[in-house]
Amino acid sequence: MFDVKIWGARGSMATYGTDYIKYSGNTSCVSVEIDERVIILDAGTGIINLGNYLMEIHKPVKASIFLSHYHYDHILGLLSFVPLFTKDSELTFFGEAKYDLTLEETLHKFMQPPFFPIGFSQLTSNIIFNNITETDNIQFVTANDHLVNIIPKNTKHPGGNLAYKITVDGRSMVYLTDFAHYDDEHQPFVEYVKNCDLLIYDANFTKEEYHNKQYAGWGHSHWEKATKLANDANVKKLILFHHKSDRTDAELEEILRGAREKFINTFLAKEGDHYQLL
Ligand SMILES: [Zn+2]
Ligand SMILES: [Zn+2]
Repeated sequence: MFDVKIWGARGSMATYGTDYIKYSGNTSCVSVEIDERVIILDAGTGIINLGNYLMEIHKPVKASIFLSHYHYDHILGLLSFVPLFTKDSELTFFGEAKYDLTLEETLHKFMQPPFFPIGFSQLTSNIIFNNITETDNIQFVTANDHLVNIIPKNTKHPGGNLAYKITVDGRSMVYLTDFAHYDDEHQPFVEYVKNCDLLIYDANFTKEEYHNKQYAGWGHSHWEKATKLANDANVKKLILFHHKSDRTDAELEEILRGAREKFINTFLAKEGDHYQLL
């Protein structure tokens, strides 16, 4: 089993309203289930529903949480992620040390009074912290003897960010969000995502927004760069992700129509969508 599920696809801020019902408003969170192993990519508000699902079917919850970076749209859901507050859960966090703080120090700083009633150090779940960098290659073997290989890669984003490529038995998915995709860095990313079965890509902006001075330095990409990368790297399926907070369902579907003219196997990330890779 190699199952990928979208729990939150919105960027920057969660959103809600009749114009956003179809693609939903929770921020970044994707689960990857490989046999009995649960890998979680980012902890935006989408992780809240994932936590409730895990409490039903995977109790006690054992999961590895890979954080791309610590902007709120990628960690805020931890505050309501039930397994974190449940005594017998085993949660292993992976992420980069930043601004002279380890991953553990960063999360302690994030969850503490007066911003939250309790501090990270008061949690009774079993928590392990792994500081990683782009040079690490994380591997483990599942109960069914599948070798899982996880390769991080730095992307250009304010404060830095990690993409993750997960490979199992020759099938692979890449989580590539919060990513200013510059033309002179295109080729290394072609190599990184080459022949992958599923590419989840930061399509926060339109091309016009991307070149608008208002958004200079925000560190996001747009769908035309996504389709070019998918074509150049022989990607099987492209998922446009990190939808701009105020992008309506109708606007997203217009983007999808344009993207499919360039790369037919393009989809919009939508909460509840599910991709079986093995
Ligand atoms: Zn983000
Ligand atoms: Zn960010």
